[in-house]
Amino acid sequence: MNSGTFENSFEGSYGGDASRLRPDDKLECGICWWVYDPAVGDAVGGIPPGTPFSALPEHWECPECGTLQHKFMIIKA
Ligand SMILES: [Zn+2]
Repeated sequence: MNSGTFENSFEGSYGGDASRLRPDDKLECGICWWVYDPAVGDAVGGIPPGTPFSALPEHWECPECGTLQHKFMIIKA
């Protein structure tokens, strides 16, 4: 069977695809549940308020547990 689309069946998962993100989307760490809010930014990581998740520097990771960006989940409003 050609069921390649089922490989990517993580509902709401960011998965490293920035095109799925809106500028005001909040994302939650899949490991420790820390939430990135673009309106707040990340003081620990030196991210100023108003920075969309998709604009975070490549090396940015969860300030709580150090998990990488693609493990974050989009929080549905
Ligand atoms: Zn975390």
